[in-house]
Amino acid sequence: MKNVVLLGSTGSIGTSTIKVADDLPDQIRLLGLAAGNNLELLLDQTRKHQPAAISISDPQKAKIARDTLGTATEVFSGSEGLLKLATLPGADIVLIAIVGTAGLQPALAAIRAGKDIAIASKEILVMAGETVMSEARKYGVRVLAVDSEHSAIFQCLEDKPGSSVRNLWLTASGGPFRTTPKEDFANITVERALKHPSWVMGKKITIDSATLFNKGLEMIEARWLFDIEMARVKVVVHPQSVVHSMVEFVDGSIIAQLSTPDMCLPIQYALTYPERVRSDRVQTNLAKLGSLTFEEPDTERFPSINLARRAGEVGGTLPAVLNAANEIAVEAYVNQKINFPQITEMVRCTMDHHKVALHPTLDQILEADTWARSEASAWRRS
Ligand code: NDP
Repeated sequence: MKNVVLLGSTGSIGTSTIKVADDLPDQIRLLGLAAGNNLELLLDQTRKHQPAAISISDPQKAKIARDTLGTATEVFSGSEGLLKLATLPGADIVLIAIVGTAGLQPALAAIRAGKDIAIASKEILVMAGETVMSEARKYGVRVLAVDSEHSAIFQCLEDKPGSSVRNLWLTASGGPFRTTPKEDFANITVERALKHPSWVMGKKITIDSATLFNKGLEMIEARWLFDIEMARVKVVVHPQSVVHSMVEFVDGSIIAQLSTPDMCLPIQYALTYPERVRSDRVQTNLAKLGSLTFEEPDTERFPSINLARRAGEVGGTLPAVLNAANEIAVEAYVNQKINFPQITEMVRCTMDHHKVALHPTLDQILEADTWARSEASAWRRS
C-alpha cells in the first residue's frame, strides 16, 4: 500500500490520479489532497477518499471546508498548506500536478522530508532541475515522471547508464496546427487552439501543445530527469500519439513504449513503481490503429523548439525565464491581448533581454522568474 499526497487533485491530472486510486484500492491510499479554487470537487473527493489532510488556496474556503467536514480531516490553506501536505507524516510519495510554479517549493519540501516525488508539473524541473535533482540525490529519494513522454523513456531505459544512450526521442503530436500554413497563424483563435487532437488536458498545457512550447519544456525536463545533455534530446512528430517516446541506444537499437493515449497509465506506473500492476483501463489494438507515422518538427512554423533548446543548452536562469515568459504570453493570448505567433515572440524577446546567472541558487531562480514575468508583461503593453 502506497500513501499518496496529491497536489492539484481537482485538475486534469488530479482527477485521472483519483481514477487510478479508485482502480487500485489495495495499492493506493490518498493521504492528502490539495486544490486551488474548486472547493466543491475537493469536498466530494474528501468525502469519498477520507484523506488525513486537505488544502485549498483561499483561507475562507478552508474555513468552509473545516465547518463542513468536522474533525476527521485536517484542513490547511495557501502556500503554507501545500508545504504541510508535501511533508505529511506517513506519506510515501507526493504527486505534484499544480499548473505553473506553485509546485516548486512543495516539491523541494517533500524531497527534504524524505518523500519520493512524482512530477506532472514540468515547470518544476524546467525552472530548477539542477537543484531538484541534486537535492533528490542528497536525500536518497526518487523523482518519478508522470508526463507520458518521460514515463515512456523511463520505462525504456530500465536503469541503463547514460553511456549506453545515443539519443532520447520525445514524440510530439504536432498539436492542432501541425499542417496549418504559417500565413494563417495570426488568425488562430483561442477556441481552435484549445482543441487538442489527442489529449484532453488543462488550458495552459493545451495552448503549450499548440505552440509546441510543451515539447520544448519537456526537452528541458528530460535533460534533468535523465541527466543527459540537450544535444541528445531529440523531437519527432508522431500525430497518432501512440508511441509515447523512445530511447535510441548506442548500438542503434530503438526501444519505444506504446499505448493508446490515457494519462492513467503513466500516473499508475509512477505510483506503483517498481511494480507493474494489472489494469484493464488501457487497451491498444495496433491492427485497428493501422499506421503510425513520423515526421520532422517544423521549427520555422514552431520556433518554440529552438528557443527551448537554446534555454536548455545555456542553462542557468534562462529556462526559468522561458517558462515564466511563456506563462504570461499564454495568459495574454487566452485573454485575447496578443495573437498566436506573438506568444513565441514575447518569449524570445524576454529571453534576449535576460542576463543569465549560471548554476543559480533557488533565490536567483525565483528572481529570474519574477523579472521575466514583469518583462514579458511590459512587452504586452508596448
Ligand atoms: P489543470 O489546470 O487541469 O489543473 C491544475 C490543478 O492545480 C487544479 O487542481 C488546480 O486547482 C490546482 N492548482 C492551481 N494552482 C494551485 C495552487 N496555488 N495551490 C493548489 N492547487 C492549485 O492542469 P493539468 O492537470 O492539465 O496540469 C497540471 C500539471 O501537469 C501542469 O504542469 C501540466 O503541464 C502537467 N501535465 C499535464 C498533463 C495532462 O494530460 N493534463 C500531461 C502531462 C503533464 P483548482 O482547479 O481547484 O483551481
